[in-house]
Amino acid sequence: MSTSYDVIVIGGGALGAACARELAHEGRRVLVLERGGEIGQAWRAAAGMLAPEIAAGEHEALYELGVASRERYGELAPTLRDSTGIDIGLWREGIARVAVDEAEAEALRTSVAWQRQQGRRSDWLDAGEVRDRWPWIRSAAGAHWAPLDGALDPSRLVAALLADVTRLGSTVRNETVRKVEREGDRVVGVLADSRYTADDVIVAAGAWSGRIEGLPRPLSVEPVRGQMAALPWPEGVPPIILFQNDSYVVARGREALIGSTMEFTGFDTSVSEAGQQRIWANVRNVCPTAVAARPTRAWAGLRPVTPDGLPLIGPAPDLAHLWYATGHGRNGILLAAVTAQLLHQMIREEPVHEHVRVFDPARMWQW
Ligand SMILES: Cc1cc2nc3c(=O)[nH]c(=O)nc-3n(C[C@H](O)[C@H](O)[C@H](O)COP(=O)(O)OP(=O)(O)OC[C@H]3O[C@@H](n4cnc5c(N)ncnc54)[C@H](O)[C@@H]3O)c2cc1C
Repeated sequence: MSTSYDVIVIGGGALGAACARELAHEGRRVLVLERGGEIGQAWRAAAGMLAPEIAAGEHEALYELGVASRERYGELAPTLRDSTGIDIGLWREGIARVAVDEAEAEALRTSVAWQRQQGRRSDWLDAGEVRDRWPWIRSAAGAHWAPLDGALDPSRLVAALLADVTRLGSTVRNETVRKVEREGDRVVGVLADSRYTADDVIVAAGAWSGRIEGLPRPLSVEPVRGQMAALPWPEGVPPIILFQNDSYVVARGREALIGSTMEFTGFDTSVSEAGQQRIWANVRNVCPTAVAARPTRAWAGLRPVTPDGLPLIGPAPDLAHLWYATGHGRNGILLAAVTAQLLHQMIREEPVHEHVRVFDPARMWQW
């Protein structure tokens, strides 16, 4: 068994798998160390929406990153299907965010106008147009319609990426990394069940990233619990992804996923009666007839969230060849594809767009 690699990736979730696949595809010998089990990994819980227009807000760099990543999945989906036989379930039929009152409508119209100024395809639908398109929605004051947003299946995405890593001759092991190891001012490997060495180490352990020993400085990535549920979607109602405020319904086929909560409950991954009631009541308020049935299953996952809400993508200050690809919060499935490309560019010391500087991990430690 080899213990020496070009790159070690800590964590085989959405970000780790995407980074590993990108590097393996470029000929690097990669070792992915994934703890496994069901510990509330975000990728297991996620709804899988690719919603930069609807969900990413007006932070310009984050928005651009999201749009680029959504487009990247258009290429990645068929490539992964061909190379691994796994269909990641890419769905590109648009997402709507409905406004329940005039104040919300005003805010959404502003957001649509801003996105159109950036040359993007976002539309405003007035109350009549919403009624005509989706007669089963409770009366709305209008909706932001993002025709290019969509979704994929996060579990199938991670499975396909890791299958491709293996196919490309790299390695995925089921081990927990305890520590990052250094010699002087550079990283040299990690300590898991065995000791592994590598030229570069990427921390992509989601909400658990800050728990790894040996990081040069404490990492501000906090777990934020999101609860979800699934319920039957009525026959005859077409598939749709619908937002209202922070609640959403992702209806595909005969099942709809509904979510979600944002809870600061540490590493607790249980579901609560109160959280479940809240997400069900919220989506039921928007589409009472479609969401009439009670949820059939419920689960929760931990999003890795940073204090400023932006991901950490880039080198660790103070420890050469250690990289971060974590802290992607609510949008890590969306952002995984482009984060992997960016990190690969950085590792190869290629120039990256200046917009990307806002994601530089060094911003967390201005001392
Ligand atoms: C309820 C919910 C809904 C969401 N919906 C969406 C959505 O619709 N669209 C979207 O874009 N994003 C969504 N997200 C966010 C998205 O899931 C996360 O941003 C993304 O999964 C983060 O990826 P990650 O790889 O950083 O972390 P994770 O997906 O949590 O993966 C981290 C991995 O590291 C492993 N690990 C941890 N510690 C170690 C260790 N010491 N050694 C080895 N392995 C380790 C874990 O087992 C895990 O597999 C949602 C999240 C939740 C919770």
